[in-house]
Amino acid sequence: MGFLPISKEDMKNENIEQLDFVYVIGDAYVDHPSFGHAIISRVLSDHGYTVGIISQPDWKDENSIRILGKPRLGFLVASGNMDSMVNHYFVSKKHRDMDAYTPGGVAYKRPDHATVVYGNLIRKSYKDSPIIIGGIEASLRRLAHYDYWDNSFKRSILLDSQADLLSYGMGERSIVEIADALDSGIAVKDITFIKGTVYKTKDISGIYDSLELPDYDTMKEDKKEYARSFNIQYENTDACTAKNLIEAYPNRIYVVQNAPQPPMTTEEMDHAYDLPYMRTYHPSYEALGGVPAINEIKFSLLSNRGCFGGCSFCALTFHQGRTVQVRSHESIVEEAKLIIEDPEFKGYIHDVGGPTANFRHPSCEKQLDQGVCKNKQCLFPKPCANLTVDHSDYLELLRELRALPKIKKVFIRSGIRFDYLLADTDDTFFKEMVEHHISGQLKVAPEHISDTVLKVMGKPENSVYEKFVTKYNRINDKLGKKQFVVPYLMSSHPGSNLKEAIELAEYLRDLGYMPEQVQDFYPTPSTISTVMYYTELDPRNMKPIYVCKNPHEKAMQRALIQYRNPKNYELVIEALKKAGREDLIGFDKNCLVKPRRMSSERRENNSYDNRNRNTTDKSTGRTSSRTTSKNNLPSTGKSTTGRPSNEKPTTGRRPSNEKLTTGRLTTNRPDTGKQVTGRPNTNNGKAGKTASKGIPGKFNSTGRSSSVKKAVSGGIKRGRNTK
Ligand code: SF4
Repeated sequence: MGFLPISKEDMKNENIEQLDFVYVIGDAYVDHPSFGHAIISRVLSDHGYTVGIISQPDWKDENSIRILGKPRLGFLVASGNMDSMVNHYFVSKKHRDMDAYTPGGVAYKRPDHATVVYGNLIRKSYKDSPIIIGGIEASLRRLAHYDYWDNSFKRSILLDSQADLLSYGMGERSIVEIADALDSGIAVKDITFIKGTVYKTKDISGIYDSLELPDYDTMKEDKKEYARSFNIQYENTDACTAKNLIEAYPNRIYVVQNAPQPPMTTEEMDHAYDLPYMRTYHPSYEALGGVPAINEIKFSLLSNRGCFGGCSFCALTFHQGRTVQVRSHESIVEEAKLIIEDPEFKGYIHDVGGPTANFRHPSCEKQLDQGVCKNKQCLFPKPCANLTVDHSDYLELLRELRALPKIKKVFIRSGIRFDYLLADTDDTFFKEMVEHHISGQLKVAPEHISDTVLKVMGKPENSVYEKFVTKYNRINDKLGKKQFVVPYLMSSHPGSNLKEAIELAEYLRDLGYMPEQVQDFYPTPSTISTVMYYTELDPRNMKPIYVCKNPHEKAMQRALIQYRNPKNYELVIEALKKAGREDLIGFDKNCLVKPRRMSSERRENNSYDNRNRNTTDKSTGRTSSRTTSKNNLPSTGKSTTGRPSNEKPTTGRRPSNEKLTTGRLTTNRPDTGKQVTGRPNTNNGKAGKTASKGIPGKFNSTGRSSSVKKAVSGGIKRGRNTK
């Protein structure tokens, strides 16, 4: 079987008069199991249902939704592999200019809030056709939620899209049950019994085993109630223990979330991935330049779903759940053989992973029949005593793959959970990973170094990351390899204020590392962190939490991570002053930035200098060089090091008005009251010695020993980020 029909002509060629389902998608049509629409459409086909695809319809033209006619059983709608708003906008809310999921990478080929727009478009033409929405956008907006882009508290997407039913999570099982129910003649409004779905009703009298969430109007008025609701939702994401959840809306409308589908078995996973995918984009896109996303996934293999990592900023618990589900080795190896046959394959498997690459089994025995713990995380704050730490299955899989003919390398590009790796008493996987599966650099996600912030993020303490890097370096050294760690870092996460951002900047200073890219915290739907962002409460304990919302402060936090970037100079100066950390502005080696004269300032200063020189010559007899010396300037006339490269070199003379601006040259640390100058007047311009001698360790807020610093920095690729 080739691609599924995308036109009446295709239908005719397949002898299909009326399709069972028409699937409206926001992505290009790519028949590869990395795309949700490909899996769902192939699973339905496998069960005997005919499915046609309408990809990226023109949402301003009603006819675009009619091209395949009215389906017998209903419309399926998904925004694509990403929430349409994440797809369209940076965290700054500026528009992205490229879309990897669209032919030719062209941006904005789907509308904002695509699921809602498509749903309403269909409803205009087909008043009585069942509409079933799914995919990540629908899944994470299934109940009332905060929308960052509109800065509003939205209703369930089921109501706004005018759909009848919502399939959340990974929908293979649900969609077949929905199709079978519709096929058997059950009206869509009566399909209220399928796990992993959300429906609307006016009658909740027959719903058992359920919890009532705060109603929409109350939550809209009171953020605390939303935080409380979210926590209940979060505690009801495990198929073993979850209750049905009821959310009330005005006019006695209720949105009901049925408990999730149980995790997929390995046999079910294998079957879903073994279906006859074409493994590429529809040929009609060839002339448009193809679909860029295929390049990332074409030579990659998915090994698992689910994650028991539980990072606060990740919605995976809400979408796939905490129970890890895996494909068998046989299924993955068979897919690898298909990849090998691809004429473009060069011998490199790009990835064997999933949400977390090194999770290949559930976190403990207990969770299989009793579910994951509601009020406890498997890895945070420390690995649970019941946690099964075992990499042997993953290791065996990687060995099998790299033994295949024509395979040169098998890489791991999905994230590795380093705390889980460290918890393994057997180093065999760690060693083989370093030896065979890293392409010069390992990307890991410590996200921050402040334990205060890490705690809010649900990530392990910084010392765990340091231990990991030390061990990683040791193994590399033993193997004679020069491979680096590239840490992913996040700015402005709830809980991080300027103090924590400066702590991170100082840490990076000590490592001699500046990331080229920084991820500003992005409040995407239905994460714990997004709820914190909106409510300024931690929904897990209802305690208030600091949230950086001001765009300018966000920019300062981000700039601090890249404090060496000349573009960030003013923001860094401002942030340091605002935080009372002028001690970090100066010439000492521990300073993040040096004072700088603006050209206008320089002009002014020059005339001031001249005036001053003349004046002093007249009144005191002091020479200008004395003035310079008093202002802690190197007497060499060289421009100061670390000066942003776009600044013109100066004579090295400190402008005399800086003498009057004490914050620039001589500052008192508010915390100690000690003078930390970073000034070179006592060491003849050799910046750094004075401060480090005078106040040992005062600049290093991390308190790490030099050996740890060396170990950590040794593994970091300096000054370059290769993300
Ligand atoms: S017992 Fe421990 S490992 Fe198992 S689900 Fe609970 S927290 Fe996770």
